[in-house]
Amino acid sequence: MRAAVSGCRMSVGALLNGLLVSVVAALLWKYSKLLEHASQLEEELHMTQQSQELSQARIDYHVALQALQEHGTRMVCTGKMHTDRICRFDYLCYSSEAEEFVFFHSNSSVMLPNLGSRRFQPALLDLSSVEDHNTQYFNFLELPAAALKFMPKPVFVPDVTLILNRFNPDNLMHIFHDDLLPAFYTMKQYSDLNNEARLVFMEGWGEGPHFDLYRLLSSKQPLLKEQLRNFGKLMCFTKSYVGLSKMTTWYQYGFVQPQGPKANILVSGNEIRQFAMALMEKMNITTSQESEKEKDGGSAEQEKEREKSDEYIVVFSRSTTRLILNEAELIMAMAQEFQMRVVTVSLDEQSFPSIVQAVSGASMLVSMHGAQLITSLFLPRGAVVVELFPFAVNPEQYAPYKTLASLPGMDLHYVSWRNTEEENTVTHPDRPWEQGGIAHLGKDEQERILASKEVARHLCCRNPEWLFRIYQDTLVDVPSFLEVLRDGMKSKPSTKKNKAAGVVHPGRVREAQCHTSVQNTNEAKLTVAWHIPWNLKYLKVREVKYEVWIQEQGENTYMPYILPQQNYTFSENIKPFTTYLVWVRCIFNKSVLGPFADVLTCRT
Ligand code: UDP
Repeated sequence: MRAAVSGCRMSVGALLNGLLVSVVAALLWKYSKLLEHASQLEEELHMTQQSQELSQARIDYHVALQALQEHGTRMVCTGKMHTDRICRFDYLCYSSEAEEFVFFHSNSSVMLPNLGSRRFQPALLDLSSVEDHNTQYFNFLELPAAALKFMPKPVFVPDVTLILNRFNPDNLMHIFHDDLLPAFYTMKQYSDLNNEARLVFMEGWGEGPHFDLYRLLSSKQPLLKEQLRNFGKLMCFTKSYVGLSKMTTWYQYGFVQPQGPKANILVSGNEIRQFAMALMEKMNITTSQESEKEKDGGSAEQEKEREKSDEYIVVFSRSTTRLILNEAELIMAMAQEFQMRVVTVSLDEQSFPSIVQAVSGASMLVSMHGAQLITSLFLPRGAVVVELFPFAVNPEQYAPYKTLASLPGMDLHYVSWRNTEEENTVTHPDRPWEQGGIAHLGKDEQERILASKEVARHLCCRNPEWLFRIYQDTLVDVPSFLEVLRDGMKSKPSTKKNKAAGVVHPGRVREAQCHTSVQNTNEAKLTVAWHIPWNLKYLKVREVKYEVWIQEQGENTYMPYILPQQNYTFSENIKPFTTYLVWVRCIFNKSVLGPFADVLTCRT
């Protein structure tokens, strides 16, 4: 982790933009800043503009202050548990002196849920999208609104604000998975968190290497915790949301059990791709399909040829750690094997948007395991993701990118390759421990690690054997690599089949009924009939079938039947003078299940 970043980089205008400050405080603060930074001309421009704004601001300021004093803070939240809670506040305040949020109680303040001291067991909510992490909890202190009389004059933030923690803004995978996607969809959930929303990052880190990505979320400059003190000792957010939706996350990092896909993934490729497209639009990136369209016509045949010849492979290279030692050889081999151009991209040499531009048109993305593989969310449908793993690392156990590529509707084809030849690995035992060094360990432990052929399952985040192995450099064995690729390509699913945008599920079957008749003391008949689901008449479905479950009342097994038609008379296993429970549902294309209609009770 890196220390907090240097002073604030925002322009004076941007900082003051939309902040309601008492006139004197604003001018004083602005004066000192201007002395530091701005040219004479800029200063005058800002001053005139600002003084007009401030006369309005003075009125607004008094309205806001009065509202805070009279009504105090109001909080209404969603979520039963701290792990699924997002709270909306009116007049949530922050004391930069105490480094605490403050809830002001008055006769009309609201706190829902009103948890009493359960609010500390363990917290009101998770401020990051990482579940129940004890460094990411949010809570506030309480004061009576009357205490405001004795406190510094508050500065009001009129922007609708989203307050959150970034989890690890130094790492691209964490940036997308933990921050950008959750913030993007939290903002979609609450419509007043629009393009004018203000984001406030409370984790306490500096901007980090990819702050531009966070800037894409709204038109306003995001604020860091350390910048809040610039606004005075007490700052009040007129309207704010606190917390992040966890709906889009697909991976858990191994804090309580070894890392792996989340147990209940709720996001599909559709939402990931919509997010990717929104981001690309903000980065002014055109997709390959769009630029194709812009090109001059030509016959369909020519177009196909051109598309084929335009296909290329992207190798995402790392230049400091976890290297591919024979990258040039690998690139030549792939170019020959697939008769495609191969382009290399690297975070150390290119802007992020230019990398996304390259990835978004690629047929294949090849990279060592690592955070840069999160860019596979920008790949076009049907592309192949090839992830390489160093010696002694089992690909099955480290699968954030495999899980992403395999999300339903993501339509990516994932292949992994691992180095199985110990002589092709280069270890770094003398590096610092966080880059996999093991020199600080006891001799026995060092020997055990060196002798081990596979890292056993472990928890995050400081397992020395894992760090030692994952930071190895690799000489990739080209024949075995190409073999894995060829095998992978053989089973590559056709994208045409998958193109269907969203899966449409059948509705309930309608007007389900049963009729019974008794033949003799041993034989009976049960006829079940129903109408098609309402939505079916508007759909073209390849195959429509119905599933009927029949259960004798009191038994705990049932008989399932799959039928192509809308009625059927059952006589096998149907007994006279018996009560049967019957469920019916519709199924599209073998696997797209609809809901069961209300259970029928049928007595023979
Ligand atoms: N990184 C990079 N080049 C390198 C090594 C790392 O660009 O040679 C980037 C990497 O993509 C990630 C960050 O630096 O965003 C941290 O890398 P680290 O190896 O710590 O994490 P990992 O990639 O294993 O998630």
